[in-house]
Amino acid sequence: MNTCDLIIKKRNGGELTEREYAYLVNGYVKGAIPDYQMSAFLMSVYFTGMTETETLFLTNEMINSGDTLDLRGISGIKADKHSTGGVGDKTSLALCPMLASVGIKMAKMSGRGLGHTGGTIDKLESFPGLTTSIDGERFIRQANEVGFVIAGQTAHLVPADKKLYALRDVTGTVDIMPLIVSSIMSKKLASGADIIILDVKTGSGAFMKKEEDSFELARQMVALGKNAGKKTVAVVSDMDEPLGFAVGNALEVKEAIDVLRGESAGKLRELCLTLGSCVLQEAGFAENEAGARRTLEKSITDGSALRKLAEFVKAQGGDERAVYDVSMLPAAPLQTVLPSPKSGYIGKIRADGVGRACIVLGGGRETKDSAIDLSVGVVLNKKVGDYVNQGESLAVVHASDASRAEEAKKLLLGCYDICDAAPKSRPFIRGIVR
Ligand code: URA
Repeated sequence: MNTCDLIIKKRNGGELTEREYAYLVNGYVKGAIPDYQMSAFLMSVYFTGMTETETLFLTNEMINSGDTLDLRGISGIKADKHSTGGVGDKTSLALCPMLASVGIKMAKMSGRGLGHTGGTIDKLESFPGLTTSIDGERFIRQANEVGFVIAGQTAHLVPADKKLYALRDVTGTVDIMPLIVSSIMSKKLASGADIIILDVKTGSGAFMKKEEDSFELARQMVALGKNAGKKTVAVVSDMDEPLGFAVGNALEVKEAIDVLRGESAGKLRELCLTLGSCVLQEAGFAENEAGARRTLEKSITDGSALRKLAEFVKAQGGDERAVYDVSMLPAAPLQTVLPSPKSGYIGKIRADGVGRACIVLGGGRETKDSAIDLSVGVVLNKKVGDYVNQGESLAVVHASDASRAEEAKKLLLGCYDICDAAPKSRPFIRGIVR
């Protein structure tokens, strides 16, 4: 087999066989296929797509590229959650402790930022000392003892995705449906949980901008999960504007803590309750959605979800005092207001642009090896539908220096549409695929 022939076959719209995917995935993982050939292959997929059978082949080959986790050593019901990637998406940080505090074992592998979107591992590293390099034995022990563990993708679990994910991030090949399906589902299926909850985003800040594409992505992932014998549910929610108010690693951690403290009643909390109630129903912990929501709400009001987060931070080597005293989290030296250029209703806040402003500030990666600044980001003061007066603060930019702050502010201004009439409101949760 020859790699160039396979690139040409895909470029011309051909359907690759199982053996051909095995050749590509193995060759890339072993270093026999270089980045430039794999980039060309991925870009061909952007233009010609993959059939569902090809997506299954690719997913299976990715799973076979490394070890799979055996979670049988963890007692109880194990759930795993994954987001298709969004801006300001700190959902795992609030949802996992909520679920763990009511008895679901959250044993989760997470990733770093990708493209204009953030990643849970980067956000978690805002806790001083916290590590996500957790080996298999510790993973199982912590899941049993704390009920909640998050590990960065190890080199051994789906190594093909680890390599491909980093390559896609810097070659414009992230927003391609079959690649997202195989990337997410290979990791979820290799991680061995009983329940997989998928947080699928739609809109300008999502990799799938159109709602019908997001539902198709959800459908394909749920079908793959069920085919593999896992309880799999996807919730499709709006990512036309950033989720919640904060975008940037440590700033998002603070916002997730606000939800767990019961101090935030917005869309982030709503998403956590929706995803969480799907998990509780699948697990048989609740008969219906109302009962599941009550259980989760109680975990906030009685403080058990916040305590679970602190327990988790400590177990992963971090300083759990930061959960109760967020001034211990990284903070940027400069905070500067973005004033509104005019009065009116906020019609749009293009989430991808806000994500890019965060990269300019140093909070996301420009290349696959870039270091990131956990302290920087943006806190939105106005969201879609709000009224703003000229000169009033649209957002506060948290920056390491004035020149980056100015560059980010220019980008941010371009993200807003400020209109005379209030925009039509659309449901935040667009639907659930079971
Ligand atoms: N999240 C992933 O894990 N993979 C993707 O391709 C996109 C989002």
